[in-house]
Amino acid sequence: MKLLVTSDLHYNLQQFDWLLQTADRYDYVVLAGDLLNVAGYLELEVQITVISEYLQTLSQRTKVIACSGNHDGENKTRSGEYTATWMQGIATDRIFVDWQHVHDDDTAISVCPWWDGPESRQAMAEMLAEHSQHPAKKWVWVHHAPPDACRVSWTGKRHGGDRFLNQLIELYHPTVVFSGHIHTAPFYQVGGWVDRIGKTWVCNPGHQPGPVPTTIQFDLSTMMAVFDSSEGRETADLSDLDAPLHVQA
Ligand SMILES: [Zn+2]
Repeated sequence: MKLLVTSDLHYNLQQFDWLLQTADRYDYVVLAGDLLNVAGYLELEVQITVISEYLQTLSQRTKVIACSGNHDGENKTRSGEYTATWMQGIATDRIFVDWQHVHDDDTAISVCPWWDGPESRQAMAEMLAEHSQHPAKKWVWVHHAPPDACRVSWTGKRHGGDRFLNQLIELYHPTVVFSGHIHTAPFYQVGGWVDRIGKTWVCNPGHQPGPVPTTIQFDLSTMMAVFDSSEGRETADLSDLDAPLHVQA
């Protein structure tokens, strides 16, 4: 099963166009959050309309998995936590969004919402507990913020990941976690686009401006991962959990 993983497109329509051109080579395109840009010049409602259409078009070429990030919530719950209600409205049998559990072949994919406070955090933990009751050979999580204290959470000055996610990873040992959020992590020497926490591979494709997004091509059958950015290509063989992580430029 071949995935094309990207994140933090932040309403860069050229990058969405690029995805449309590339999507049919993969079984899934995975968008690990921050599809919108709350700091953008367009109202969120307009962005939601445009991006919903993009995702629908994209889903005609491949299956789509999209989780919400901190830029994607347009609604507040009664307890005042942001939530991406619009994504629930675009779910189809080819577009999978927050809260969903996608079973395909020997793989299960959990699409985690952005948690914005104790209530949504608890709900997400309960979702993963529920999903853990329906195991598959490989369990993939899509979760906007990366786990903390690893290469993919390095901001250049400190780690900016989600410690709660580390606890969940240590509890359930998923096969791979795809995140984003820390745009620059892949580009620092002590950072990276891939790392390992226990038995779990953690990936963050990062973000770059311009017409082409940073991407990770991830083959779940061979466990080969290829990272592409404007700085070039790097590959990693993730098939052996006991071997040290070796990223090849
Ligand atoms: Zn972002």
